[in-house]
Amino acid sequence: MIITPHVLAGAALGTQISNPVLLAVYATISHHVLDMVPHWDYDILSSKKTGARKIAFDIALSGIVTFALIWNLPFQTQAHALWGGFWGILPDGFLALYLFSDKKYFPRYAQLHNFFHRLIIPKGHAPHFAIGLGTQIIAVLAALNVFISL
Ligand SMILES: [Zn+2]
Repeated sequence: MIITPHVLAGAALGTQISNPVLLAVYATISHHVLDMVPHWDYDILSSKKTGARKIAFDIALSGIVTFALIWNLPFQTQAHALWGGFWGILPDGFLALYLFSDKKYFPRYAQLHNFFHRLIIPKGHAPHFAIGLGTQIIAVLAALNVFISL
């Protein structure tokens, strides 16, 4: 999945789990579960410059939405949401280091990440764009629902 659903899912978990260690574990698990769901990803490999721009936009979007959602929450809940969002996206951070280092750093972790990514949809069998986008919209709406119900 792209960055925003991962961050929002982790942030939503952060509003529900007060133990920071458990939150890190569950947010990391949420990342891999969301990666298993058939989804669409933007291309970051054909051009590093264009890929970096797409990633920067996605990071900015996830940050803006997260801060908008936590703006009026108590400080402790804000901190937990940010902690959860961080762990929700950290697995892709390691994957980005792997990809942008020409596969030099974290190769075993990249294998694990790709295992989850291809568990349901094998490599080279991307779902239809509408399904791939729809699953991410559902993930975002589920996370938003958690914040709305606070
Ligand atoms: Zn991932």
